[in-house]
Amino acid sequence: MEVIICGGGIIGTCTAYYLAKAGIRSTVLEKNELANAASGRAGGFLARDWNSGTSINELAILSYDLHCALAKELDGENQYGFRRLTTHSVSLQKSSSYSKSCHAKLPAWLDGSTIQRPSKIGDVTTNAQLHPYQFCRKLQQVCLEMGVEFMTQTEVVNIKYTPKSKLKTITINGGKELSTKNVVLAMGPWTGIARQWFPSLPRSIYGQKAHSITVKPKTPLTPDAVFISYGESSADIYPRPDGEAFVCGIVQDPLRSENLEPPGMVNPSEGCCKALKDLCSEMSTSLKSGTVNVEQACYLPLTEDGMPIIGRVSDCDGVFVAAGHSCWGILNAPMTGKILADLIVSGKATIDISEFDPGRFAE
Ligand SMILES: Cc1cc2nc3c(=O)[nH]c(=O)nc-3n(C[C@H](O)[C@H](O)[C@H](O)COP(=O)(O)OP(=O)(O)OC[C@H]3O[C@@H](n4cnc5c(N)ncnc54)[C@H](O)[C@@H]3O)c2cc1C
Repeated sequence: MEVIICGGGIIGTCTAYYLAKAGIRSTVLEKNELANAASGRAGGFLARDWNSGTSINELAILSYDLHCALAKELDGENQYGFRRLTTHSVSLQKSSSYSKSCHAKLPAWLDGSTIQRPSKIGDVTTNAQLHPYQFCRKLQQVCLEMGVEFMTQTEVVNIKYTPKSKLKTITINGGKELSTKNVVLAMGPWTGIARQWFPSLPRSIYGQKAHSITVKPKTPLTPDAVFISYGESSADIYPRPDGEAFVCGIVQDPLRSENLEPPGMVNPSEGCCKALKDLCSEMSTSLKSGTVNVEQACYLPLTEDGMPIIGRVSDCDGVFVAAGHSCWGILNAPMTGKILADLIVSGKATIDISEFDPGRFAE
């Protein structure tokens, strides 16, 4: 049995990994470079218990545990910056002035005078982080050792399904055709384009442009993540073990797959990275005097109901989809990959995935 995976983000890469672990060979087709989109430009924050009461709770808990197991197996601490951390939330209020009691509850580098309402919202028992690009690269290296093939600069331009033979013929850029019985669609926010080949896929898969910068502060920051709310907006800061801080926020209206900028060509919108720099200056003297190394944008993958789409595409034997993981795609990637591998190998997922059914939006 062989599998073709369309999309080399974290979801496609984790699927290839768990298939390889189960002894199944796969080929990953990636339009640009591995993890060039959200999977390489995300915060990499992981929380085990932040989704209780939602449909993704079990997925999140099991996936967090898989991340911890992978970090042990793959030396995550040294290979991709896996570590536990403490998490705070704060709000910014322009009119306020420096409050000693407020700042006493926060790490010293969060010294901005407009910081208000600090609250510790997570700790090292259930919060962790990793560098998502380095994680994908490490997993790719292990996959290559297990025989997985990665074809980059390879765009999936058409998929033809022949019900009688159950064969799927995938046309890639240049007109070359590849055939397989099992296809996984993991093209993140661009997955909606596959509806032209599989009409039972949801009409509404979106991408929401989000911005991020990395800053090398003048003095080192402690392992404390910060969720900031200011006005109608929000942003996050994740200090990383390599000394940089990843700062993200400033989202725009969601757009359907067919209206997105193509992979590799998603540029920051004017003023958005500058707004993140200004926010850093307001939050911390250390960040204010630091150097901005990266300014970038990418798409958060969304669905209409906020839940991911994971499972078999109805009426098309051997076609699977995993997309729309929203702001928890890094967290939920290992378990999603495992679910897909289990579905392909044994026809059954180890957890109830009915709430993620791709057919749930049928009109
Ligand atoms: C600013 C930001 C911060 C985030 N922080 C976190 C966080 O801290 N923790 C967390 O859990 N999640 C976080 N996320 C969410 C997470 O990044 C995403 O949910 C996850 O990366 C989605 O992975 P993916 O593989 O589905 O999609 P993507 O990463 O978008 O990958 C899809 C891939 O498909 C390829 N592709 C597209 N079309 C084609 C085609 N026709 N042929 C071949 N290949 C194609 C693309 O090039 C791309 O590489 C964040 C997201 C953003 C935007």
